[in-house]
Amino acid sequence: MTIRINANQIIDTFIRYTTINTTSVPENQHLPSCENQYKLAQLVAGEFAAESTVETTINDNAITVLSLPANCTGMPSIVFFAHLDTAPDHTGDTHAIRVQKYDGTDIVLPASGELIAVEAFPELLNYVGQDIITTDGTSLLGADDKAAIAAAVEAIRYMIATPDFKHGDIKLVLLPDEEIGIRGAKALNVAQLNADFGICLDCCGIGEYVIENWYAGSAKMTFKGVTAHPMSAKGKLVNALLIANEVINALPENERPELTEGREGYFWVNKMSGNTVSATLEIALRDFEIDGYQNRKATLQAITEKLQNRYGQENITMELSDIYDNVKAGLDKKPAIIASVQQAMANLGIEPKPLIMRGGYDGSVITPAGLPTVNIFTGAHNFHSTKEFLPAESLRLASEMLLEIVALSADEVAA
Ligand SMILES: [Zn+2]
Repeated sequence: MTIRINANQIIDTFIRYTTINTTSVPENQHLPSCENQYKLAQLVAGEFAAESTVETTINDNAITVLSLPANCTGMPSIVFFAHLDTAPDHTGDTHAIRVQKYDGTDIVLPASGELIAVEAFPELLNYVGQDIITTDGTSLLGADDKAAIAAAVEAIRYMIATPDFKHGDIKLVLLPDEEIGIRGAKALNVAQLNADFGICLDCCGIGEYVIENWYAGSAKMTFKGVTAHPMSAKGKLVNALLIANEVINALPENERPELTEGREGYFWVNKMSGNTVSATLEIALRDFEIDGYQNRKATLQAITEKLQNRYGQENITMELSDIYDNVKAGLDKKPAIIASVQQAMANLGIEPKPLIMRGGYDGSVITPAGLPTVNIFTGAHNFHSTKEFLPAESLRLASEMLLEIVALSADEVAA
């Protein structure tokens, strides 16, 4: 196996990106939700400023498209996707640390004194002898998803430097605010990319790739009650909070996040507020099957109608919103995509770990919009945590994966 991506170079690139704090801000409705996402987009675009073959655009939403034209005809056009923001779970600036030749013991994060302990994270032992990137313990690392940006940038750098390496049109698309509702992907003009398929790098450990995720939606309900002085409330007072509670009681009691796993869906009552006169209730709904997802919406609809009949149509409202889809239906239409991910792993000696994802990623919006987009590993562990860590060799192989998938698409054309 030829080594195409240099480990030191990709780690330097990754660490350079971690120095820009791109924590997304859920309360800010502007896209992007923080200015630094532009700054990171500009840094990445700047890396190719001297390359006449690469064209880059950054729009007002910080959606960045970097295009490398095909160097031969008839090959598929592929888009690499990565998101610019990091999760709002921790807002501090990242100080990345490179642990050289990891020795198999607990890793101490120097600024906080926290441990990434082998007992809690036995997967560490898979990386003995390798370099591992961590933080100082005061922030998350942001390998989710800056490792993806580094992997894609280094793969494109390799393609530019290696004219013999055949490829179709290659694009790198950087999207803002994935962590706060996949907002960037929703604002993307997918048809304009004019591509055959996409690859997100937004999974964790080496070998992981997503074969499906769930359908996601949300319901927002409002209830109007009637207040009255308690000494003469009988027959008059209508308690909006108790109507909200009737909804909760009407939901299937075993279908909650804390009681489900694998491919099981749920209703998650995640916000309730109000008083006697008015109350609101928010419920997240998830299901892997489209029928199951539609049934969950119908259940909420039926509960709403029953309450409307009892308390008056005007006093109960419900708004249902679809958030993202299961990618399976879209990926199944082009089985060659998953097949090439698996073949690339086989060629690189990576053990494949197909994943059913209880969540969404940019591809969950991009795939139903017409561009089938798989999700593969960045190599990092413990996303959204101060204990996030990234083995250098896993990141290098994430980048090699992109090149290998492109190379396999050449074989397809030659065959
Ligand atoms: Zn992510």
